[in-house]
Amino acid sequence: MSARLVLATRNPGKVVELRDLLTSFEVVGLAEFPDAPDVPETEPTFAGNALLKARAIAAHTGLPAVSDDSGLCVDALNGMPGVLSARWSGRFGAQHPAGRDRANLELVLDQLADVAEGARGAHFVCAAAVAHPDGREHVVEGRMDGRIITAPRGTGGFGYDPIFELADLGRTTAELSPQEKSEISHRGRAFRALAAYLEGIAEPG
Ligand code: IMP
Repeated sequence: MSARLVLATRNPGKVVELRDLLTSFEVVGLAEFPDAPDVPETEPTFAGNALLKARAIAAHTGLPAVSDDSGLCVDALNGMPGVLSARWSGRFGAQHPAGRDRANLELVLDQLADVAEGARGAHFVCAAAVAHPDGREHVVEGRMDGRIITAPRGTGGFGYDPIFELADLGRTTAELSPQEKSEISHRGRAFRALAAYLEGIAEPG
């Protein structure tokens, strides 16, 4: 029987993604733990927020817990929105997630309106953490480099994808298939690194 591991998300898509990467574990989502706490992301770093959530969910469930935190870092904005990526447009952003994504990216486009072509570098970061109920913990980071274009392009992905262009491909991450994006994305990289770590410490089932 394989060890159980809980992914700190209510998004079933993320659970499937991690399940595909972690064959030595039975991966479950928070849907199985309806009373699990909502953990506010109060830390100033991606790794700090990922660990905060993983620790809280490990304590609540008594299972090893995996969590991630991610965001967009724009060179011309001194690395912001960073950990504030999901809430960058603040209370002026729309309440609906799709509307909020749109408000967030419109704000970044406005903020970069006068920034020259050569100074529009940006990267995505994802920190993925595991916390064990006995206190052991581990965190890894993945990164994807690109630049912010001047008008949205593409219909795939979410968040800032339509304004984030990959230099090598000349395409935005909203113009990639989910598989293409996962191969090179910050989240794909972080989850593959965390999966390799977890498979390494998995006890034979
Ligand atoms: P989290 O859910 O706290 O990790 O917040 C992630 C936020 O960062 C999202 O709401 C997006 O705004 C942004 N973000 C993270 N990863 C991506 C990505 O792959 N594409 C586009 N936006 C992303």
